[in-house]
Amino acid sequence: MTWVITRLCRDCLDMTCLEVCPVNCILEFVGDTPGGWPNQLYIAPDECIDCGACEPECPWAAIFKDEDLPALFSDDAVLNARVMQSRGDFDVPQQPETRRIPSAQEVEGNRKKWMLEG
Ligand code: SF4
Repeated sequence: MTWVITRLCRDCLDMTCLEVCPVNCILEFVGDTPGGWPNQLYIAPDECIDCGACEPECPWAAIFKDEDLPALFSDDAVLNARVMQSRGDFDVPQQPETRRIPSAQEVEGNRKKWMLEG
């Protein structure tokens, strides 16, 4: 069992989750050919110690326990797991210089964009 960063994270530049991960297993793609790797963060499942610290920090509520992952987002678990096959193409990102916390309306809009209701 591990945690999964879903497509709700796409294009987020908040990265507060990085500050709380005790094992630095929240990663971004740094390889040469990003095709197939959307612009978001990923959790390296073999390195995650299942502490759960990241989940409440995500302003987009993009992080789920794999057992609680909406079926709609099952591909995201596959993507996170695939990080381990290309681990050399991933690294811990730099923290952004500025952050903008999304409004509740933006968070809801993002959920609707990805067809996650409720
Ligand atoms: Fe890191 Fe803990 Fe989140 Fe796993 S659950 S990614 S170890 S903060």
